Amino acid sequence: MDFTIPYELRDLVSSLKKFINNEIKPLQESHQDENGCIPEEIRKKVRLRSRELGFYGADFPEECGGGGLSNLGMTLLREEIGRSGLELADSIFGEAGAMSQILLECNGEQKERYLLPAIRAEKLSCFALTEPNAGSDAAAIETKAQKEGDEFILNGRKHFISNGPYADFAIVFAVTDRELRAKGGITCFLVDRDTRGFSLGRIQQHMGGGDRLGELIFEDCRVPARNVLGKVGAGFLLAMKRVGEGRLRLTALFMGMADKCLQLALDYAKQRVQFGKPIARYQAIQWMLVDMSVEIHASRLMLYHAAWKADQGMDIIRESGMAKLYSSEMLCRAADKALQIHGGMGYMKECPIEGIYRKARASRIGEGTSEIQRILLARKLLQDGPLRFF
Ligand SMILES: Cc1cc2nc3c(=O)[nH]c(=O)nc-3n(C[C@H](O)[C@H](O)[C@H](O)COP(=O)(O)OP(=O)(O)OC[C@H]3O[C@@H](n4cnc5c(N)ncnc54)[C@H](O)[C@@H]3O)c2cc1C
Repeated sequence: MDFTIPYELRDLVSSLKKFINNEIKPLQESHQDENGCIPEEIRKKVRLRSRELGFYGADFPEECGGGGLSNLGMTLLREEIGRSGLELADSIFGEAGAMSQILLECNGEQKERYLLPAIRAEKLSCFALTEPNAGSDAAAIETKAQKEGDEFILNGRKHFISNGPYADFAIVFAVTDRELRAKGGITCFLVDRDTRGFSLGRIQQHMGGGDRLGELIFEDCRVPARNVLGKVGAGFLLAMKRVGEGRLRLTALFMGMADKCLQLALDYAKQRVQFGKPIARYQAIQWMLVDMSVEIHASRLMLYHAAWKADQGMDIIRESGMAKLYSSEMLCRAADKALQIHGGMGYMKECPIEGIYRKARASRIGEGTSEIQRILLARKLLQDGPLRFF
């Protein structure tokens, strides 16, 4: 087995680190307000600069202007983004959901209007599946799309949509056949922000802070049939593909965030003196640090293995599900321990752990909750037995 990380990937990570330290950090420090909001024009500036440096769209194929980077390469870069602990660093690859590989389903004419501008960082998208009455049970969505001539009329409401308030177009899932639903009755549409009948609802305030999560409302919204992404009725498969691809992406971010927690906790424990000694000298603190480092290492091995397997063209449905489940729960434990090691200071807004702790909590919910991951993994375990290397 060869666990060597190729030099060209290490160099890429070093370049990203420089970009983050020299450009992203100062921008965030001067533009983030007390609620965690960063103006959209600053985020767009970061996306365009990231494109210039070759990061934005790095995971898309070279033939459509992407960088053709491997899953392992993307994993290492995303881990670095998580490790930066900077909200604005999320914009380097397009914020959550913005750059889904399902856009590769665009046909000739759609490529010009959506895929290519998205890869060039000119247009931002959002992924709109979840609804007030359909979360984990995504097949139960109620947004309808009724065919009339060469248009579909959309009616319904989406919520918790990342980038919803700022996206130039939304990737929207709606029911085209009530009987078939997930088995051929859900269709995916590309809906421009300025389409009549498409409006923004509330911006949804949440514990992670910021203003990028919102509701999308469709009221007799007429979408041309040429804006169907993929085939009519094939939308549920696309949605699941997007949720599946999100698992590796998120695991890498969670890994980086957990690593940041460990680094902050180590630094603090070495310099904080109580009862005449740095607290790092006390066994209770050492055990927390060691437990964090063991879990981070286990999580990293799962993640790199899944990324490597994906690069060999192998199925990673179980590996990516396990990695997402484990890393999200591990991150919450790491953030909790890091906060504990910081004592009262960890609870203060001025301490970076406070923000990471709040942001980390969403990890067990998005792209399939921990419970849903366990259901899917249990199904595979009962059907195929334990996961083995050979
Ligand atoms: C920060 C954030 C960003 C998001 N971004 C997006 C986005 O960009 N686009 C998008 O479409 N959605 C997005 N979501 C929505 C996310 O995908 C859903 O929140 C998630 O799928 C869970 O759905 P729900 O919140 O409705 O919870 P529910 O499905 O109502 O679940 C509630 C609880 O019940 C549990 N549960 C449900 N079914 C079962 C079962 N069968 N057995 C055992 N337990 C069960 C769940 O695990 C959970 O603990 C985002 C959510 C968050 C928090």
